Amino acid sequence: MNSAPFQLSLFEAPRAALRPLPPKDQVLAKADHLAHRLSRDLGVPVRLAVTDNRSTMVSFRRATSALRLRVHHMFLDAPEPVVQAIANYAGRGHAGAGPVLDDYIRGRQPLIRQDGRKDTELDPRGRCFDLSQVFDRVNAEQFEGAIDARIGWGRMPRRRRRKSIRLGVYDHQSKEIRVHPALDRPEVPAFFVEFIVFHEMLHQLFPSPSRPGRRVHHPRAFREREKKWPLYEAAVRWEKQNLRVLLRSSRA
Ligand SMILES: [Zn+2]
Repeated sequence: MNSAPFQLSLFEAPRAALRPLPPKDQVLAKADHLAHRLSRDLGVPVRLAVTDNRSTMVSFRRATSALRLRVHHMFLDAPEPVVQAIANYAGRGHAGAGPVLDDYIRGRQPLIRQDGRKDTELDPRGRCFDLSQVFDRVNAEQFEGAIDARIGWGRMPRRRRRKSIRLGVYDHQSKEIRVHPALDRPEVPAFFVEFIVFHEMLHQLFPSPSRPGRRVHHPRAFREREKKWPLYEAAVRWEKQNLRVLLRSSRA
């Protein structure tokens, strides 16, 4: 019997080929060039950081002395109109430049790092809050876009009586934030959800030093930074006053 001389080959490009990371010296040279173009255009010094973020592609902070800008490495090869859009968006606050950047980012999805897991496992969209929007806002306002994590709603735990509730959790290994679904309710104010997300993001910034037999979950620097949150007092108060409601809804 003849075996059919037929073989099906699937050629899958390796990930590295799909997503070439430019060599470091090239990145530095291009970043320098980009910073100069922006600086010349805007007439202020530009301090540029290049990221390999998964969700925040452009973020910035305008100070009087300089523009601090973080961009994904896809922008290192951006054509003139896109560079112009970065200047208008970050340097001049023109919201109209947003769509130009969105289009550019959409066309370069393969350059954005994926982590192999299916996105469905971590869904940021709830009934009341879209956590990815919360994350992006807090990241831009508090961290200059420096936090790189994925975020989603946790699963509703099995019914049982509880005395306490963990409203958020950060996994250092997978860089994932999960927020307790009890917070996805209209009675929960947005500032409180933002605070919980902010808290979990701080865990990436201040990893807990683990010593044998002892683990400082929230190091002192963590706590100090947390207290600088503009609505810190209000958030702590809200949690205290509404803990029972949260506990009840977590068993619903
Ligand atoms: Zn914590």
